Order: sequence, then C-alpha cells, then structure tokens
Amino acid sequence: MERIGAHSHIRGLGLDESLEPRQVSQGMVGQVKARKAAGVILQMIKEGKIAGRAILMAGPPGTGKTAIAMGIAQALGKDIPFTMLAASEIFSLEMSKTEALTQAFRRSIGVRIKEEAEIIEGEVVEIQIDRSITGGTKTGKLTLKTTDMETIYELGHKMVDALNKEKVLAGDVITLDKASGKISKLGRSFTRARDYDAMGADTKFVQCPEGELQKRREVVHTVSLHEIDVINSRTQGFLALFSGDTGEIKSEVREQINTKVTEWREEGKAEIVPGVLFIDEVHMLDIECFSFLNRALEDERAPVVIMASNRGITRIRGTKYKSPHGIPIDLLDRLLIISTSPYDEESIKKIITIRCEEEDVSMTDEARDVLTKIGVETSLRYAIHLITTSYLVAKKRKATTVEANDVKRVYKLFLDEKRSVNYLREYQEQYMFNEIPADEEMEG
Ligand code: ATP
Repeated sequence: MERIGAHSHIRGLGLDESLEPRQVSQGMVGQVKARKAAGVILQMIKEGKIAGRAILMAGPPGTGKTAIAMGIAQALGKDIPFTMLAASEIFSLEMSKTEALTQAFRRSIGVRIKEEAEIIEGEVVEIQIDRSITGGTKTGKLTLKTTDMETIYELGHKMVDALNKEKVLAGDVITLDKASGKISKLGRSFTRARDYDAMGADTKFVQCPEGELQKRREVVHTVSLHEIDVINSRTQGFLALFSGDTGEIKSEVREQINTKVTEWREEGKAEIVPGVLFIDEVHMLDIECFSFLNRALEDERAPVVIMASNRGITRIRGTKYKSPHGIPIDLLDRLLIISTSPYDEESIKKIITIRCEEEDVSMTDEARDVLTKIGVETSLRYAIHLITTSYLVAKKRKATTVEANDVKRVYKLFLDEKRSVNYLREYQEQYMFNEIPADEEMEG
C-alpha cells in the first residue's frame, strides 16, 4: 500500500525561468505573490551566498505555508539540505531545547567534500583542453591501460599534442597504448566545443589546462554537519544516524568538527553549503529558543531559516508579553515576511481536483462543486479530508465514482471546526473540566 502525505502532490514552486508563478504547475495553485517571493528566496539559497537569513511565512491556517516550504525543498534538489521541524518537537525529555535546535541547525548545513578518486586500469578518463586563445574547448577520451601516473602523464601529453595539431577529428575516440605509446583512433565520441555544449551538464569531464592532464579525478559527496558530529561522537557512533537516537552531542566534538571543516575549506577540500531549516508552528517556541535563534543566525555557517505561523498577536511563550505571531520584536525585526492569504473558490476547486488525482479518487464535477463549497465555508484542509472519506462511502454502495450525495453524507458524519465548537458550546455542561471560561481557554 502506498501512503499519501498531505503535501505529496507538491513537486516544486511552479515557477517559470524568470521566477514568474504559473497559475497551476507542479501541483501548486494560486497564492501567486507568496510563491514569487519564495522563488526569490530559492534563488538566494541556490546561489549559496546568503547565510543566516530568516523568513517568516505568515497567514491563516490552510493557506499553503507548509506547501510552499515543501515546494522550496523539492526545487532545491538533493545536494542542498532541507530540514523540517515542528516547533513542538524540540520539547523533549531526552535533550535540552537548545541541543535540539543546534542539531536541527547542523542538519541543515551541508559540507560538500571533494575527494580524489583513484584511477583504475582499463577505465576511460575524459580530458578536456581549454583553448581559450583560439576559442572553444576540446574534449577527448583516454582509455587507461596502466595505473602508472608517469605513463599516464606521458600519454596524456601526447594526446593533448594530437588534439592541438588537429590530427584527430570530431567524433573520434582515441586510445593511448602504454606499451607502444601510440595513439590510435577507435570510434566517434571525440567532441569539439559545439558538440560538448550539446552534451549538456550531466557529462562530467576532467578539467585540464592546455597541455596538461589532470592527475586525479574528483568525487563530491555532501553530508550534513550533524552527520559528521554523530559519526565522530564517541558515545554514539555512526549507527545512531540510522536509529536517530543521537542524544546530546558534546560541545567539544562540535568544536573539533568546526575546526576540521574550516581546515578542509582552506585547503580547498570542502565547501560549506547552507541549506534550509523550516520551523513550523513557530509560536510554540519559547523566549529561550528565540534568544538562541537570534544568536545562532549570526553564525557564518547558519542555514536559511524559514518559519511559519498562523497566529496573530499572541503571547510569547515563557513571558507575559504579547507580540505578532508570538515572536519577540527583536527577532521579528530581522525577518523577511511572506504572507499568504485565503484561497478563492476557483483555487480551492483546483486544489481539490489535484488532491483527488493524488488520492486516486474519481469524483463527479457536481461532487467537486459541493466539496469546493464546503471548502469555502469551512476550511481547505477539512475539504481535503473529505476526499478519501467520501470515496469510502461511495465504495460501500459499490460505486467507483464519488457523487455529491457521498460528500454530503461524510459532511454530516464528520464535524468541521466551526460545527464542533458550536456543538461543544451547546453541550459543555456535560463535559469534564468546564470551569475555565471559554474565552480564556481559546486564547491559550
Ligand atoms: P497551517 O497554518 O494550519 O499549518 P498551512 O498554511 O501550512 O496551514 P498547508 O498545510 O500548506 O497550510 O495547506 C493545507 C493543504 O492544502 C495541504 O494539503 C497543502 O498541500 C494544500 N495546499 C495549500 N496550498 C496549496 C497550493 N497553493 N497549491 C496546492 N496545494 C495547496
């Protein structure tokens, strides 16, 4: 059985090359302004230039804040770390709040490590000659019949000579033989600049300055700082990476890792890749966490932090003060705020249609209209919940397509938030612990 998540239909931000949002694309519908803003942030993250920037996605429930964050994650690709955290997750008995936040921060910072790969006999090594004076780049393939570097160098130089003297033609594969030192033409995969361009970015070539063969090839891995911490934490060992049971990591370990990574960076062996840390329900953090965030964002290794909140003016946890989104003013001041707004009927219908496809539910147009109406009057999320439930009802009457009546039936079976509150008001006398005045309770 395949399980379908709430955001599984989101495959990106749905923007075109100039970062303009398409109306419906990659599972995304409407919310154009917020998506465009997210696209600008995405660009900044991809360029890797900014560290420690913080963004707040603010808007009513169910307006796509999490969906947009997921869209950013999808668009980033695997090489840039993206960590998702609900603020309530940091309150655990196993570790302190600041430790949980530190781990989340370090999970969101990638270290791109360049390793030199061994050259193996019989392997095809590609070399590229950049002839900037005459313009254009030439590339060639060298089949290795030896692992002896001296010989490889020598052969490489011969190959370069051959290339420079134009003895070989575009499309040729040349082999350099160790024993004779002879160059022989084999087939047609030798390329000139224009052919190389057409091959696209996926083809990897060993770069070599004119007349010189690169000694070794590079292999690049990206791991997170947190993974390096765990692997080097003596108490845990790398198995903790799989169990997730990392416990607290000593600050000395982290300091050592930081020093090591800085060293690698200076030696040109590693690069820091700031990723994204998404903190949902940010109003659940307390004042200590906020002060930690303020400081952690100053670090040059900080990731881009995207927070989301659906609260208006509310109490800052751990204080008696209220502030917008429950975030202290000094932190709020450093945030770029992206706001999301409620969807119109048309967008709700489109999202419902996309979700029907995702959940593999066929539904008549009339049923979708009813569901859209429900979405407008209650909430988008409630309407989405009714998709599979009404399908189950349809299935019970042995139908394969959901009809309007199935939707109406589940609407009666499951309460939405408004009806549920009304119901509670009506019957509150019969519930336990009803002494607290209703207003106060809602506020907390
Ligand atoms: P909350 O404040 O309650 O956390 P939210 O703003 O994070 O809400 P989401 O969880 O992103 O809301 O949205 C609710 C549902 O609607 C999700 O299943 C989400 O994938 C979908 N959705 C929201 N906006 C869009 C959109 N623009 N395009 C497609 N699907 C969307």
